Amino acid sequence: MRASLRYLALGLAGALGVSGTVLGGSAAVAHDDGRHGGRGSPVTAELPKVPVMTGGGGAVSSVDPLASQVGIDVLERGGTAADAAVAAAATLGVTEPYSAGIGGGGFFVHYSAETGEVRTIDGRETAPATFTEDEFLGEDGEPLDFATVVSSGKSVGVPGTLATWEVAAEEFGTMDLHDLLRPAERIAARGFAVDENFHEQTAQNAERFATFPETAGLFLRDGEAPAVGTVFRNPDLARTYRTIRHEGTDVFYEGEIGRALVDESREPTTAEGVEVLPGELTLEDVGAYEALLKDPVSTEYRGLEVYGMGLPSSGGITVAETLNLLEAYDERTGTGLSEVSESQYLHRFSEATATAFADRNRWIGDVEGVPVDELLSQEFADERSCLFDPAAAQERPIPFGEPDGDYAACGTSGARQPQPAGGVSTTHLNVADRWGNVVAYTLTIEQTGGSGITVPDHGFLLNNELTDFNFVPVTEGVPDPNLPGPGKRPRSSMSPTIVLEDGEPWMSVGTPGGATIITTVAQILTGHIDRDLELVDAVAAPRLSSRNGAEEVDLGLAESEVGRQLSGLGHRLVPPPRRWIGNASAIRFLDGNRFEAVAETERGYGGSAMVVHPDR
Ligand code: GLU
Repeated sequence: MRASLRYLALGLAGALGVSGTVLGGSAAVAHDDGRHGGRGSPVTAELPKVPVMTGGGGAVSSVDPLASQVGIDVLERGGTAADAAVAAAATLGVTEPYSAGIGGGGFFVHYSAETGEVRTIDGRETAPATFTEDEFLGEDGEPLDFATVVSSGKSVGVPGTLATWEVAAEEFGTMDLHDLLRPAERIAARGFAVDENFHEQTAQNAERFATFPETAGLFLRDGEAPAVGTVFRNPDLARTYRTIRHEGTDVFYEGEIGRALVDESREPTTAEGVEVLPGELTLEDVGAYEALLKDPVSTEYRGLEVYGMGLPSSGGITVAETLNLLEAYDERTGTGLSEVSESQYLHRFSEATATAFADRNRWIGDVEGVPVDELLSQEFADERSCLFDPAAAQERPIPFGEPDGDYAACGTSGARQPQPAGGVSTTHLNVADRWGNVVAYTLTIEQTGGSGITVPDHGFLLNNELTDFNFVPVTEGVPDPNLPGPGKRPRSSMSPTIVLEDGEPWMSVGTPGGATIITTVAQILTGHIDRDLELVDAVAAPRLSSRNGAEEVDLGLAESEVGRQLSGLGHRLVPPPRRWIGNASAIRFLDGNRFEAVAETERGYGGSAMVVHPDR
């Protein structure tokens, strides 16, 4: 399956504006429908989506060739991994506006070659100061309809993405936002060619977008998704980026852009006859926002150090518990994960993720007192492994455990909790630079298309991240750490991950996919580390996402011989709600300061892996 395609980076020279012209200077292949007029010719050089590229000088992998190329350009010009990650993410805000952008939030994990430290930036959205625990209950005390809340002002949290970029550039970068936003601004102004992914995501949202005239005006053409190959421009977003470049992030958090987003979320502009729930955000909420520098969480796995995002994401902790459980199963059975059959591997994997999710759902949220160290401990996983049976799947839902430091007995006093609702979209990118700094960055506006609300005249969609709170406690009578609260950050599943070996970078990986993010990251890690798969094949492999309910499997796994064997062990395999689970990307660090950048070959119309100097 390993792709051998090689592609010499086109080099959007001048993307940073240093040497002049370029964006738009190359072959204009897309049909310009003449609408949404922008400046200059469109950025339509067809950059191929290459899933694997090896070489030196730095690497980027993301879902989008323009974003990867912008990152590569920054690296080539001497920018750090953080600089390139910010510029690439800003580009994703233009080309992947339904998954990323300054209307949303995310988590940035960084390895510093200089200090050898992994640090993280928590850029998660926050709830308004007025939010209460029963925020999502109707007057009858019943939870509000989920879809109704999604497309409303009520789901909108204070966006953290721009603050994340600022902290990343200041802490880990050498360039400033003024330069780093420039390529994205140009792409927004000049336009880019609509691809299948953009078209499909717009089409899926067309009905919803039509209820918000500002969104319909920006993203639809006579009520339909723009055709593949036509030019899409976003002059409003170009202006917004330009304003931020010149006035700084205060214009967003304390100024004109903040006011516009607060107004629109409190009273969304809707089509005639359409009413949506108003939001409660205030300019004080927006002004109080901070992207927070935090330590990562980590675990050791097969002698490697796996670093991930801590609270308020459940990603790093739950990936870590999964890996600890897999090591515990090895001990328990006397057989290593690398030695068992494919169906036994997936059986163990499913049992581990389901168990880790039982604990995640009970214990993890943006509250004081989460037993993070216990959840990460091998002793806790060893206790939790006692329920594992190599010959049969445990009954779902598996009860949660007690991470209380007392692990003498097997057993669990916890309730069997159903799995809470989760989102389905997002985007991830990895960057490595020539000095050995690394970034794994996952960002989102929650659902594909977020709340569906575009900030008028500003060209970006607002998130619906607050729907990641549980509307009601998952189990009556059991404390739920993920209920809404004032200023609180909803629990996430995003799992940007950096793996070190002896303190040196070994791998960076991440993916979109709501709660499936956790299982996908864990499966790619075990596929590459334990199952001897090339990294691109570990990314491409059919996925199994077992989150303590029915087990979602993609790419024909259910119908395969392995799928039948899993069903024979008692696993309930079902197709995922979308055609595939996640569109992941990764970077592997090779000897001699070389990189293998890796993207999807199988899902979501692929991804884009690039290095600065191919095969050097
Ligand atoms: N809101 C989700 C989370 O933070 C990510 C969105 C998604 O991938 O669906 O876990």
